Amino acid sequence: MNLRPHHLLCIQKFTGHGYDAAFTAHMTRVVEMLRHSPETQVTLATGCDDLCVQCPHRQGSACDTPDKVTRMDRAVAEACGLAPGDTAAWQDLSRKAREAVFATDAFQRICASCAWFDLCKRTEVPYVRGE
Ligand code: SF4
Ligand code: SF4
Repeated sequence: MNLRPHHLLCIQKFTGHGYDAAFTAHMTRVVEMLRHSPETQVTLATGCDDLCVQCPHRQGSACDTPDKVTRMDRAVAEACGLAPGDTAAWQDLSRKAREAVFATDAFQRICASCAWFDLCKRTEVPYVRGE
């Protein structure tokens, strides 16, 4: 599947809240699939990905806040030592994101401007199968 880099964070902090019912239902399915199949191969996308597809903020093939989300994508990829087009198992990419972002001050730096930050700060990353 294709994911933009900052969604490596959002998926792990997801607690059932989303932009609308369709987006939340879709994200719930993706999150559950990745929790149960951490070996799923994920390619880092530039632009809209397999989560954006159901988002009310998607306009065609772009996000309606492109500068903000592109900045976050670049910052997450850089912190994790990743680049667009890189492909790896979800369990490896999500571990990198935990170690390089959630466990460092990069989390505050990257996510503080996000509307969900207070919730994400309070949310523990759940048990990850295989670790
Ligand atoms: S604060 Fe925003 S960008 Fe960061 S993990 Fe949460 S939802 Fe994603
Ligand atoms: S379209 Fe924009 S706001 Fe919606 S999930 Fe994608 S990056 Fe996030």
